[in-house]
Amino acid sequence: MSRIVMKFGGTSVADLDCIRNVASRVKRAVEAGSEVAVVVSAMAGVTNQLVAYCQGLSPLHDAREYDAVVATGEQVTTGLLAIALQEAGVEARSWQGWQVPIRTDNAHGKARIAGIEGTELIRRMQSGQVAVVSGFQGIGTDNRITTLGRGGSDTSAVALAAALRADRCDIYTDVDGVYTTDPRIVPNAKKLARISYEEMLELASVGAKVLQTRSVELAMNERVRIQVLSSFADVPGTLVVDEDEIVEKQNVSGIAYSRDDAKITLRRVPDRPGIAAAVFGALSEHNVNVDMIVQNVSADGMTDMTFTVSKADLPRAQATLAGAQAQIGFSEVLADPNVAKISVVGVGMRSHAGVANTMFRALADKAINIQVISTSEIKVSVLVAAEYTELAVRALHTAYGLDAA
Ligand code: ADP
Ligand code: ASP
Ligand code: MG
Repeated sequence: MSRIVMKFGGTSVADLDCIRNVASRVKRAVEAGSEVAVVVSAMAGVTNQLVAYCQGLSPLHDAREYDAVVATGEQVTTGLLAIALQEAGVEARSWQGWQVPIRTDNAHGKARIAGIEGTELIRRMQSGQVAVVSGFQGIGTDNRITTLGRGGSDTSAVALAAALRADRCDIYTDVDGVYTTDPRIVPNAKKLARISYEEMLELASVGAKVLQTRSVELAMNERVRIQVLSSFADVPGTLVVDEDEIVEKQNVSGIAYSRDDAKITLRRVPDRPGIAAAVFGALSEHNVNVDMIVQNVSADGMTDMTFTVSKADLPRAQATLAGAQAQIGFSEVLADPNVAKISVVGVGMRSHAGVANTMFRALADKAINIQVISTSEIKVSVLVAAEYTELAVRALHTAYGLDAA
């Protein structure tokens, strides 16, 4: 008998008809003889609304209370899906993160799963009961509800699949697989039958929201087989697999964009040892992650330092820098949230030169200015003005020969 974890995202549980559709898919899996645990997200739009409530009261709100608020979306959908399953004649019950329990650290708002106690779930699944588990949430060592960061239900699903020693983790969503880029921006993007963990990890980490980064990392480490597929159509999806299971390796296999970053420039920073440590040390102490960084050398002993942080962290970053201004000694902080990061990803980059150059050429041909560049072994990212996002992604998709025929 197989044991599977089925995860359904926000659009898959957007209303009662969608929830009935999910119930019938789960019922089919049960009737096919599988033991099933289901992980659900909040109904589409609900988490955004809950986040907006917190921000509406205070941009620098208490992260523990933020978690208490935003975790509620998933509680609703677990209960509703359990009811829909019972209505369809399938034995089911809902589980909140703290009930399983799904234990996490105490990094509220971006907690990491530390362990899942799966014994009781397995016992019930073996007796024929479907476990409907809230994605996105857990319980910290402070005994309070935590959430795993936006898109975190994917990670809940993979972690649960690992803990339950499931044969598969099927991620059902509103697209029928992983494409060469977001099919909503490039309609002639191609669906990939397979993608390597490494490439999926890189694509996710630079903004391809189809899977949360941490979920891919976990799947890779715990050897969980992920399949991304549609909740609405019965077509084969995309398998995330080891690199050696992919025969045709492309130089570039995918393009991603992120509008979640903001650019910060510190003007006239003293150009001396210890300054980078002071700036980024202060930010990291306040839990602000920094991504791309450039520093311009100047003649007069002063420099401009530009870097990106996530938009959600921008108020905290600005407050932190304002507090450290006297100690670091820069003249002003400029913040620009109207930027987008565009990235090209492919394992073939390890062995092929010229990938970055193709990118710069294609953007130049569209007169798109590059503000910051960063690279890794299998990725090149550039920061551009947000208004050029679609244009840049489409131009690059064509430049790398990824357009569907
Ligand atoms: P869910 O609510 O099911 O978790 P998400 O919105 O988080 O769904 O993720 C699915 C979305 O990811 C798709 O609707 C699509 O717009 C976006 N996406 C971005 N990049 C890609 C890609 N390379 N392939 C497929 N979908 C992508
Ligand atoms: N509901 C959460 C979010 O919108 C988690 C998820 O959907 O994965 O971020
Ligand atoms: Mg998602």
